Amino acid sequence: MLLIFCINGLIISDLEDTVFSTKEAELSAAASEYSTSLSVYGLDYTLDISQSYSKTNRRVIITDSEFHIIFDSFNRESLVGKTMFHPAITHALEGKNHFSSSRNSSEISSFASAPIVTNNRIVGAVSVFETDTAFPEIFSSLETISLVLSAITLLLMLSATILTILFITRKIVFYAKTIKNSQKNDSMNAVSLKYTDEFHPILDEFNCISERFNYTQEMRQAFVSDASHELRTPLAAIRLLCESITQTDDIDPDTVREFMEDMILEVDRMSHTAEKLLVLSRLDNTTKSISAPLSLSEIVENMITALKPIAAKKDVTLIPYIDENCFILGDTEGVNQIIGNLIDNAIKYNTYGGTVKIYLYADNVQCTFITDDTGIGIAPEFRERVFERFYRIDKSREHDGRGGSGLGLSIVKRNVESLGGTITISDSISGGTRFTVVFPSLHSYEEV
Ligand code: ADP
Repeated sequence: MLLIFCINGLIISDLEDTVFSTKEAELSAAASEYSTSLSVYGLDYTLDISQSYSKTNRRVIITDSEFHIIFDSFNRESLVGKTMFHPAITHALEGKNHFSSSRNSSEISSFASAPIVTNNRIVGAVSVFETDTAFPEIFSSLETISLVLSAITLLLMLSATILTILFITRKIVFYAKTIKNSQKNDSMNAVSLKYTDEFHPILDEFNCISERFNYTQEMRQAFVSDASHELRTPLAAIRLLCESITQTDDIDPDTVREFMEDMILEVDRMSHTAEKLLVLSRLDNTTKSISAPLSLSEIVENMITALKPIAAKKDVTLIPYIDENCFILGDTEGVNQIIGNLIDNAIKYNTYGGTVKIYLYADNVQCTFITDDTGIGIAPEFRERVFERFYRIDKSREHDGRGGSGLGLSIVKRNVESLGGTITISDSISGGTRFTVVFPSLHSYEEV
């Protein structure tokens, strides 16, 4: 609104300037023309001026050098014989041409004057005065029109804004209802419309969110069912063993001891699974692990020492190729879980009398850790799946009698990702499996 007013004001003031300059040109030209004629023909020439101006709204006054009026084109109220002090006359008698103009609500008054010079002497002044009542009327009409136009524009803009708001609100309500009607129970359904409009990206975004939500729901349900299955199986075994003890008459103590040992094994499995579930839930709830500079070489060497007795039980030889200068940023617990699980698996899924080669080396940007075993191998189609929770290729759990829960590699992958690393599985040239973990090295952080 203010902008429209300003634009209209500017247009009117431009028009005013044009009118004033036209008037200046006309009146100054008239004053100069008469002053030249009077300079040449003498002051008597005024009679002709009187003829030509008698019926116009211009008034020509000629004064001598003493400010006495010697001619006035207005016959009525003639000022001839009187003295007149006006800035226009004063300026002209000082030898300067003069023009001034002013406007009020009913008229524009303009004054132009020029000196009359005879024999290099200022003998008088010609002043032309004009009062114009036509233009102020036009200006005030224009101002009224501008005001009305501004008001109409404002009304139109307000109506357009209200209509737009109503349109947007209706659309939002419509989309909200469509989304609400398409939802059932605790799953989110994708919403589709037969047409597309400016609001369709909201639906697309909603569909993406619902897809992610449904995937998370499915994962959660699968996780709960896998976890309960994992705990139910050992519980069923324990129950069976207990029933065998209680329902068998005259059961011999050795059989009882054997059953009890089996029960302890099942309880160990359950606590092992529960422990890993806790680790996973902790990892899920932490976005970033607490990082400190760590010697990966030291962690790997310590882990090899710790796992040697387990390897020895299976006659598996651990062969390390360790570069002493591998440093990374990470948390000790997470890195131990990665290294421990991978070496442990390489022993667990190895053949009797097999070997596990453990490589650790670094360059400027990364540290690479590899376990390369002579074990049973992992077929390409299982290489992605083994990182899923509870996924085991061989469901019998009979490796070394300590077949696992299927959670170890999920924990490994989650830890590797939180350290900004990658993990891949490939065939080992020795016939088994090769796990390769790449960590960003401490150097790479220092360079950044
Ligand atoms: P688990 O507790 O069963 O060992 P993991 O998550 O550590 O669980 O491993 C998932 C599955 O991947 C294992 O059950 C096993 O079938 C397979 N696997 C893991 N490491 C190896 C390996 N080095 N060689 C062969 N198979 C392996």
